[in-house]
Amino acid sequence: MATLTGLLSAWPLIRQIRERADGTGLEAMSEKTRAMRARIDDAQVARSVCPYCGVGCGQLIYHKAGKLVSIEGDPESPISQGNLCPKGAASYQLLTHDRRELKMKYRAPRA
Ligand code: SF4
Repeated sequence: MATLTGLLSAWPLIRQIRERADGTGLEAMSEKTRAMRARIDDAQVARSVCPYCGVGCGQLIYHKAGKLVSIEGDPESPISQGNLCPKGAASYQLLTHDRRELKMKYRAPRA
């Protein structure tokens, strides 16, 4: 069972007071927060262009083991400089939404 001192020292507020920090650095992080990693850690990245409109904003496509992980703006794109509009930012949902049409709808002539 954890002691009261151990519990208090694990509390980020106590660390901030003890270390006289402003609470915006490592002192404000819990062990769980420190152990967290970004979902794009260890992901491979491919450069692409947003498929929605003719502006052609650059996108970074993050993928792991053949699975799409995230799509973000490409900071090196001279057009968008890392920014995506709401449509471009929704590209991930365009590809991964469970109601995405996967079969082409075809209407035969005179049907
Ligand atoms: S991010 Fe927006 S503005 Fe840029 S290409 Fe895509 S849809 Fe067009």
